[in-house]
Amino acid sequence: MGSFKIGGIVLSSAFKRPSTRLYPTVPRKWQDNTRGHVEIDPEQCILCGICSKKCPADALTVDKAARTWTIDRMSCVQCRSCVESCPKQCLVMKNEYTSPNVKKVIDTVNIPEKVKKEE
Ligand code: SF4
Ligand code: SF4
Repeated sequence: MGSFKIGGIVLSSAFKRPSTRLYPTVPRKWQDNTRGHVEIDPEQCILCGICSKKCPADALTVDKAARTWTIDRMSCVQCRSCVESCPKQCLVMKNEYTSPNVKKVIDTVNIPEKVKKEE
């Protein structure tokens, strides 16, 4: 009786679609709320440094003098603290992960000077 049952399972499995994906031919679709990686809109950033102070992983560096915003991708734990604390809402959590890498990935973004609007 047991072997009939096993045979049935084997047969039905042979005609089922596989439970796994043919990666990388079939890429994975991320969920909308997947915490993938942080991105900045440099046009909105005022270099206040709040994001770097709130980062529990010490992954962010804001250099006011050099006008740069830097993220250490491998230290970031995708907690969203920076996104939630930015007063200009210029940080977003994208749902795609960055590519795997054996080297430390540090991204530096130049923040442009703001041109004062004439009243
Ligand atoms: S998501 Fe969290 S760990 Fe990553 S940079 Fe922002 S505050 Fe730091
Ligand atoms: S990203 Fe936001 S919190 Fe961070 S320095 Fe720029 S304006 Fe300030």
